[in-house]
This record gives sequence, structure tokens and C-alpha cells, in this order.
Amino acid sequence: MSTAKILVVEDEEPLGVLLQYNLEAEGYQVEVVPRGDEAEIRLQENVPDLLVLDWMLPGVSGIELCRRLRVRPETERLPVIMLTARGEESDRVRGLATGADDYLVKPFSTPEFLARVRALLRRAKPEILSSVLTVGDIVLDRDAHRVYRGRKELKLGPTEYRLLEYLMQNPGRVFSRGQLLDNVWGETIYIDERTVDVHIGRLRKAINSGRGPDVIRTIRGAGYAIREG
Ligand code: CA
Repeated sequence: MSTAKILVVEDEEPLGVLLQYNLEAEGYQVEVVPRGDEAEIRLQENVPDLLVLDWMLPGVSGIELCRRLRVRPETERLPVIMLTARGEESDRVRGLATGADDYLVKPFSTPEFLARVRALLRRAKPEILSSVLTVGDIVLDRDAHRVYRGRKELKLGPTEYRLLEYLMQNPGRVFSRGQLLDNVWGETIYIDERTVDVHIGRLRKAINSGRGPDVIRTIRGAGYAIREG
């Protein structure tokens, strides 16, 4: 099971559609944008787990976008797979030097593409693909769909479970209410941001009741995070 979010930046529409279809079939959450400048704005709002980036794009080129991402703290370690129609060795070296983690020359096969995505996620974000997440004394077992603190099983509602799973995938990272709505509830639904506070409250109650320190941090004016370790 995988809930990784992948942003695909590709201006060739049929290829964008194909990549989205195949990635979604693997269980990833996928968004496709056709322009480099649009992708840059999108990445300032929300950072995905992996970026598939075409080299030649309208607006801002893939290579320039990748360079800019590497100087921002929020995206300096974002896993990036670069796509290109060119196969020259010098370009390949330049792509990797600009900070892409991997590189695929078009045309490539779907199995090859999916294998590269999986390999990069496993390398860069092992917690996304692992079936058991652990933060401090909290253990979330995705296969069994159960959560424990210490040895005691916690009873969580479905939304609290997804919220905890998401926070545990990114320990220490602070998420705004809007980002949590996007990533836990999904972007198609309109929900008031205060809903996040309600569910964080329920989650806190379920996790904390008499079982040690509060593991969820509230960062005033910024949002929520789960404490690392
Ligand atoms: Ca292109």
C-alpha cells in the first residue's frame, strides 16, 4: 500500500495522461501540471513526495526549476526524476548535476518508469512504502490498520487514523491546516479549516489519554506536527 503524492510536470498531454493513469493504478496520488512556472507555484503551496519533471517545459524549464528547488529548504531534498527527449551524455550529466536524483530518456517503458519511481521513493522516503510506521512509542501498522502506543492499542476514527498516518510519514515537519486538508481529506472537498482542529483534538485525546507526553505539537499561526522520536 502506498499513499505517496507525486507531482508530474509534463507539457505533452498524452504522456501526462499516461503517466498519471499508470501511477494512479499503483496507488499513488497524482497531479499533472503542464508548465514549469505553474509547477513552481504548486510546489510553494505543497511539497509532494516525489516530482517527475520534464526537461523542456513552457514557463520555466525543468532544469531551471530543479535548480531553484534545490536552494529552497522545503524542497532541497525532494526526490526528482527528470524526463527528457534528448539522450546526449552531456545533458545527462547536466541533469544530474542540477540536482535530479534520476533520469529517464524518452521514450521509456511504463514498467521501467514505475520501477524508477518505486526505487527512488524507497531510497529517499522509506517510511512511505513501509508497512509499519514508528514515531517514539507510537506504532502504526498499515497492513493490520492498527495503532499502538506502548503496548496498548488505540481506537481511532478513520479520519484520525489518516491524519496520524500522514503526520507519522513526516515526523517533525509542520503542516498548515490547508496542507493537512489537501493531503488527508483530498483537494476536491471543501471543508472549513477548523475541521482540522476538531480532528487533531480527537486524535490527541485518543493518543494521549494517560499515556505519556503529548506527541502532537501545535505551532501557533503555522499548524501541526508530530514530535520526532
Ligand atoms: Ca516537454
